[in-house]
Amino acid sequence: MINRRELFGAGAALAAGQLARAQAPKELVISSANGLAACKKAMEMVKAGADTLDAVVAGVNIVELDPHDNSVGYGGLPNEEGVVELDASVMHGPTRRCGSVASIRSIKTPSNIAKLVMEQTDHIMLVGDNALRFAKAMGYKEEDLLTEESRLAWMTWKLSLRDKSGHNNWGPGVDAPPKRRTSELKQLFPHADDKLLAWAMEMAMHPPTGTINCLALNAKGEMSGTTTTSGLAWKIPGRVGDSPIIGAGLYVDQDYGGAGSTGRGEENIRICGAHTIVENMRHGMTPKEACLDALKRISRNFDNDKTRLGQFDINFYALRKDGLYAGASLWKGQEHRARFAVNDGGESRHEDSIYLYER
Ligand code: ASP
Repeated sequence: MINRRELFGAGAALAAGQLARAQAPKELVISSANGLAACKKAMEMVKAGADTLDAVVAGVNIVELDPHDNSVGYGGLPNEEGVVELDASVMHGPTRRCGSVASIRSIKTPSNIAKLVMEQTDHIMLVGDNALRFAKAMGYKEEDLLTEESRLAWMTWKLSLRDKSGHNNWGPGVDAPPKRRTSELKQLFPHADDKLLAWAMEMAMHPPTGTINCLALNAKGEMSGTTTTSGLAWKIPGRVGDSPIIGAGLYVDQDYGGAGSTGRGEENIRICGAHTIVENMRHGMTPKEACLDALKRISRNFDNDKTRLGQFDINFYALRKDGLYAGASLWKGQEHRARFAVNDGGESRHEDSIYLYER
């Protein structure tokens, strides 16, 4: 007997009304792999009857405030001048509204500011110093976002630039500086233990990506999403990634579903990833098919050259209005990057993402 998933997986074009009639929506929250706690929090709120946007923002606030998540909010790795700059967006399905901030400094929870832009202004996006000014007008305090850990990783990266073939944002490619010996670093940072130095070296050599995207669906079929990040480590000041760009790092269409992304934002912006995925679902693709199609577009931008594509990774998350969902990565098995977080009512769990290529 064909089940509901198979039926939807058949790829038939579905009008919004058909989707709504075919299956009563179920409560569901998904996010990038770093969002187990975020999904749990958002689900608790969804179950308690909270608005889906309030739920996902409260969920990602946990990650934004976590000093040990070096890719989001407080403790995020800084730009090349050692300053943490954050990007965030929100999209509220029921009212079809959205808001975002880009390159905002000194605020630990940029997703809250993106939500305030949506709720309190006639605009959608505020950037840089003026986004901070807006946050302060809304009662937020300026805080130092650099932790001792992220400062050390930044200093290690700075030092690596003195090496001849060091990583350089101003060049065309993504390459890595040569290894610095731990003993050398130990002299420079006598208070740091070996574990911290090894981590800082790894961060300097392979500038990490990271972000949280979180999407929620409630029993009424309402959906919302948010994406928040400190962006690429060691970026040029003012660089804005995909996360605050509606249609790239996040998109929700209340009639069909939502999508978001983490990973190298430049490649996502070039294909308007989240919008592309929602549009694919609108034309009848399953979340998996929709994400794979977006990844193929990225691959096409590199003439499907796996050597060049091998220099980065990118991940998509999609949640359809009927509760079908997927996570998808360009590459298989990049540790936690090949998974995503799901909560359908109990504890959060990781599920494997599908992928386009194997290394
Ligand atoms: N997508 C984010 C950006 O490009 C970074 C990330 O997910 O790691 O800013």
